[in-house]
Amino acid sequence: MEKDTHISKCESCGADMIYNPKTLGLYCPYCESQKAINKIPTTIRDYHLERERSVVDDEMQAYKCPNCGGEVVFDAYVTSTACPFCSATNVVKLKNQKGLKPDGILPFLYTKEMAFEAGKNWIKKKFFALGAFKKNFKAENFNGVYVPSYFFSSNTYTKYHARLGKHYTVTVGSGKNRRTVTKTRWFTVRGELSRDFKDIIIEATRQLTQSELHKINPYDTESLEGYQRDYLAGFSAERNDASLDQGFANAKVIMDDTIQREALSRYSYDVVGSFNADTTYSNIGFHYALIPIWVFGCKHKDKMYRYIVNGRTGRSYGKYPISAGKVCTIVFAVLAFVATVLALIYTQGA
Ligand SMILES: [Zn+2]
Ligand SMILES: [Zn+2]
Repeated sequence: MEKDTHISKCESCGADMIYNPKTLGLYCPYCESQKAINKIPTTIRDYHLERERSVVDDEMQAYKCPNCGGEVVFDAYVTSTACPFCSATNVVKLKNQKGLKPDGILPFLYTKEMAFEAGKNWIKKKFFALGAFKKNFKAENFNGVYVPSYFFSSNTYTKYHARLGKHYTVTVGSGKNRRTVTKTRWFTVRGELSRDFKDIIIEATRQLTQSELHKINPYDTESLEGYQRDYLAGFSAERNDASLDQGFANAKVIMDDTIQREALSRYSYDVVGSFNADTTYSNIGFHYALIPIWVFGCKHKDKMYRYIVNGRTGRSYGKYPISAGKVCTIVFAVLAFVATVLALIYTQGA
């Protein structure tokens, strides 16, 4: 059996093809041949059925970055074998990583150049940004990475009771001591509420923070298509190490917040004394999907600074180090390392 059957080869010259966000297809970097990628649909997975299922994905090679701790999987295209989060190239191979296989993907729509364009105006106005950070802020140092995410759906039914307070004022005292004071009248409410949730995105990333990601949201979850590795050609993907259970626990927090807000919106009150809810979650489904982000990352004085761009909408957010002394460490392609990876790929292909 041939081992490395996945990588799409150029029909004219035999080179590995890479994904082009402009055409949503593959292209050959050598002879510029094109090849279409046909979209496939994705079906929602059952949460309870898949909770315990974990497979070794030996088609994808995982690497760990000793510089920033990022764990990524690369497809075969060698030029992306640098850590997408900090650009270090001394990433280390990991063996037999277990995890869920993705079923969905939102392919990149923004090219590297378009992502850089988005950042050009941002960096231009950063007068106090560290020189090295500004100097390295170039299109070629932007890395395209797919971040693993769960999209959860669930029906919910909630029984709740709450103690709410309404303020009122009374006049007390007499003569010079006559004044108004605010008091609270407490009352109890009970009710039930049904609500269906769809596509709550929970990013399963360790490298980027949820608050960073919220700055570049939203993603067009309705465009989710079936996972195909062709979309990863020339890109990398962060390895998922957040469990499905942890993901659902985070989704519950979001659902519970919404339920509480909607239940309380039925009443007129000034203050919430307590809110107790008993919620049943049913028909829980999920997608484990990859979402695209362009990253320019730079480590300065042991802190990571990143500029990130939503690979679907171009919405961006960044933090930069203030100009002072030391250089920022961006480690560029080490030839010896690239040679090792090349050897590895050719061995697999043989
Ligand atoms: Zn070619
Ligand atoms: Zn790194």
